[in-house]
Amino acid sequence: MDSSVKRFLTEMADRAAAVAEGAKDAVAGAGKVVGEKKDAAMLRLDLLRLRSECESRFSEIGRTFYLMNAGAWPSGGETAEHRIESLLGEVGEREMQVSDILRRLSELSGKSACPSCGKPCDAGAAYCPACGKPLKG
Ligand SMILES: [Zn+2]
Repeated sequence: MDSSVKRFLTEMADRAAAVAEGAKDAVAGAGKVVGEKKDAAMLRLDLLRLRSECESRFSEIGRTFYLMNAGAWPSGGETAEHRIESLLGEVGEREMQVSDILRRLSELSGKSACPSCGKPCDAGAAYCPACGKPLKG
């Protein structure tokens, strides 16, 4: 496999893992929603949906990429590059929605959220425990 292909696939795998990781904590809390605000329960359901939508797009990207490199992508229709680009755009939109939801969940739980990755952080923390970015200007 040539190195640019390998790099691309590694990057995709990292992004897929980041989406799954970002949703994991929130989804893990979905079992203990007794008495939880309806808003938070709805947000968790949205997260689950977004995560599976991202996963299906990532696997579609992998499939398209494989066919393209094997010379097996059907000609005549949409190009493989264009297909991948539009799938990436769809994933990007969902990644933004995921971080927005994580931020809103943090607000509901009374914790502050990292402005970079949206993960909940303890009030007073100097750096985000998830992404390591400084929390204060
Ligand atoms: Zn962060």
